[in-house]
Amino acid sequence: MKNSPPGSAGKSQSRQANAQTAAPAKPQARPSAATPPKPLAAPSAKAPVKAPLQAPLNASVKAPARSAAQNSTARPSPQPAASAKPAARATERSAAPNVALNGALALTSERVRERMVERLRANGVTDQRVLNAMSVVPRHMFVDPGLAAQAYEDAALPIGHHQTISKPSVVARMIELAAAGRALNNVLEIGTGCGYQAAVLSQVAREVYSIERIRPLSERAKTNLRPLRIPNIRLHYGDGRLGLPSAAPFDAIVIAAAGLDVPQALLEQLAIGGRLVAPVGSQEGQSQVLTLVERLGPAQWRESRLDRVFFVPLKSGVI
Ligand code: SAH
Repeated sequence: MKNSPPGSAGKSQSRQANAQTAAPAKPQARPSAATPPKPLAAPSAKAPVKAPLQAPLNASVKAPARSAAQNSTARPSPQPAASAKPAARATERSAAPNVALNGALALTSERVRERMVERLRANGVTDQRVLNAMSVVPRHMFVDPGLAAQAYEDAALPIGHHQTISKPSVVARMIELAAAGRALNNVLEIGTGCGYQAAVLSQVAREVYSIERIRPLSERAKTNLRPLRIPNIRLHYGDGRLGLPSAAPFDAIVIAAAGLDVPQALLEQLAIGGRLVAPVGSQEGQSQVLTLVERLGPAQWRESRLDRVFFVPLKSGVI
């Protein structure tokens, strides 16, 4: 720790910089190495973790407004007064119709999500835990309702404050690289944004810490995550360049914004044997490269430069 390189990962001792763009560097990811991780609401320990997120999704999300609609689906409800009464007892009475309605929505997005996962698989994501995680996290709940129809396209979408939700393929790739088939205990994400990647991480790691420097986004992430009732995510508002010393060391660190280097504090908070994945480079000229840093020893890191990517900038301080 004390002899650690003063600068960034760029100064790492053994460096193995070969820029190979697309090849999803298959880690030793064996589906069999399945960690018995996640909580969420743990259905059956092993099988596709489908149920956990779904239940809360049906139960709470955008239900209440429609409680009057009882059984008749879309109709403007013949007796407008009907809305007044049941509303008073909303908690007990509105449950069934809302569940049905949201259940239908959930099924639709589930199918679209499955197609997204098939595309991820076709494009080289092999870690079954990551694929499962991508198939249970409802990405449409992390974007503006107006963009929900695009939620399962492989595109970054605006989330306000000049920031974006990362592309599904990039989220999957970063998590797969960070995990490398290992069971993950303690993971740190820098750049919570709307909270999507943290939700995906929560399905493959035991404990997820995520830091965001823009307060309204941190709040938004909290709001987005609440209905999913994910017990193993800790959100922090602050400058992620400083990491989270109190929760270190981390088996994996994922940085969701591009800096010119990897902050030294984060290198120090990586466990020995841990892996950090980050876009490194400037906005100009699309020169960012997804970079993997492995900590080999107390003062030894190895850096590999992988895919060309484009991320919003990693900034200092908080707003
Ligand atoms: N993880 C998100 C991606 C959000 S975009 C997802 O799930 O899609 C990257 C986020 O990093 C932005 O919200 C930005 O505000 C944040 N960010 C940039 N610099 C940061 C810093 N130093 N500390 C914490 N967050 C930072």
